[in-house]
Amino acid sequence: MARIRFNNVEKKYANGFHAVQNLTLDIQDKEFLVLLGPSGCGKSTTLNMIAGLEDVSGGALLFDDELVNYTPPHKRDVAMVFQSYALYPHKSVFDNIAFGLQMRKVDRAEIDKRVREAAEKLEITHLLDRRPSQLSGGQRQRVALGRAMVREPSVFLMDEPLSNLDAALRISMRAEIKELHQSMQTTFVYVTHDQAEALTLADRIVVMKDGVVKQVGTPDDIYERPENTFVASFLGSPPINYIDGTLKFAGGGAQFLHEALALDLPEAITAKLSGQDGRKVRLGIRAEDVDEAAAGGPGATIHGKVNSVLPVGSDQFLGFDFYGNELFFRVGKDLAHKVGDDVSLSVDLNRLHLFDKDSGASLL
Ligand code: ATP
Repeated sequence: MARIRFNNVEKKYANGFHAVQNLTLDIQDKEFLVLLGPSGCGKSTTLNMIAGLEDVSGGALLFDDELVNYTPPHKRDVAMVFQSYALYPHKSVFDNIAFGLQMRKVDRAEIDKRVREAAEKLEITHLLDRRPSQLSGGQRQRVALGRAMVREPSVFLMDEPLSNLDAALRISMRAEIKELHQSMQTTFVYVTHDQAEALTLADRIVVMKDGVVKQVGTPDDIYERPENTFVASFLGSPPINYIDGTLKFAGGGAQFLHEALALDLPEAITAKLSGQDGRKVRLGIRAEDVDEAAAGGPGATIHGKVNSVLPVGSDQFLGFDFYGNELFFRVGKDLAHKVGDDVSLSVDLNRLHLFDKDSGASLL
């Protein structure tokens, strides 16, 4: 079992910097939890507190029901894989993987068995006699994973383990890490600033900013139901578009109104906004939630001028000048648009997001 609980945890560094503030989080046994956020938001600090590499300045950190605030790293039953892999250059791959077990004086036959099993799972058996300098980046990454696997920890911690790999290898290693989680049946806590990595790997994602949790949820929650504009903007490519306007209720329905746009809000959204006539809001439209075919009628159409066209393989990104704002939409590659064209796009009204204009909190 490895359930990890943060109860009002604080981290202040020696220079007084408050890196993690009032963190309350319950990581379930066998969960794959991803800590996601921009550089400096406190992800690594949070992971290091679980590992015992950073002490906790306030609150309680529990493994199952045991307080571990003061438990040294080697007594925590966690294994960590770093971005740099931290391999020993003069040791063979076998000895790099075996090192932790050798230090703990595990029986030689047992070490041999565990190293070979891990190497087989990671498909690096043929590399066991090599040194790290004789390996590619992806192979080194596997050795680092193997070293953590043979310890059979209750908790697997990973800090941006794929960021030194090229794009194609990153995608295939993602799939392998996911499989590894399924086969190991242990709790994984994984740090990344890469939204795609978080969305593919996580059971749940914790989005952080400036030491504070901005949302915790499944990938679907985080992408489809962002609780604030920070989370909405952090995920999505190109990022979500915002247009400021006002809510207008009339004749039993509601509209989002801007000088150059009137969108009819569907009932599912209207029902959550009762009594908010005249409220200043920030509308969010995800880049992919528009369509040119079947113009949606006046209450679902946005008009603008194309000011850039960026092909991205199967799709294209349209830069769209809307009343002085530059919006970006993702449309099919077959739509032939040139810079300067006037375009009307129909908006998927059921996928709109609405936020408070000042606080950025979701109204839905
Ligand atoms: P990155 O993706 O860049 O690694 P992160 O989200 O993992 O970022 P942390 O490494 O947790 O961020 O750092 C959080 C904040 O704490 C940063 O502003 C960082 O500068 C600060 N910080 C980290 N280590 C220390 C330290 N030893 N002393 C003082 N401040 C620190």
